[in-house]
Amino acid sequence: MKFEELTVEQLKAIEEEFKKGTIQKILEQKTRVEEKTCAVCGQKIAKQHGYALEFGQSDLRKRAYFCAADCLQYFLDYLKKENLTQYY
Ligand SMILES: [Zn+2]
Repeated sequence: MKFEELTVEQLKAIEEEFKKGTIQKILEQKTRVEEKTCAVCGQKIAKQHGYALEFGQSDLRKRAYFCAADCLQYFLDYLKKENLTQYY
């Protein structure tokens, strides 16, 4: 996309969205998605794949990502084995 080819209206719309923080927010979300790594093996997780587990107190939710069901299972087993479920 070339900014020179956009109309004044389109540029103004972009500027408006930028001021509202929309662009920063979208950018943040997209970057976050791409940076997801598996909590167990550390492997990068492709955009549309993997598992997310939300846990913790309702006011302090944590989210962990896993590349495959095996890693998710490993994480849950670890919590149970170490008796950590009471903390999460
Ligand atoms: Zn993994």
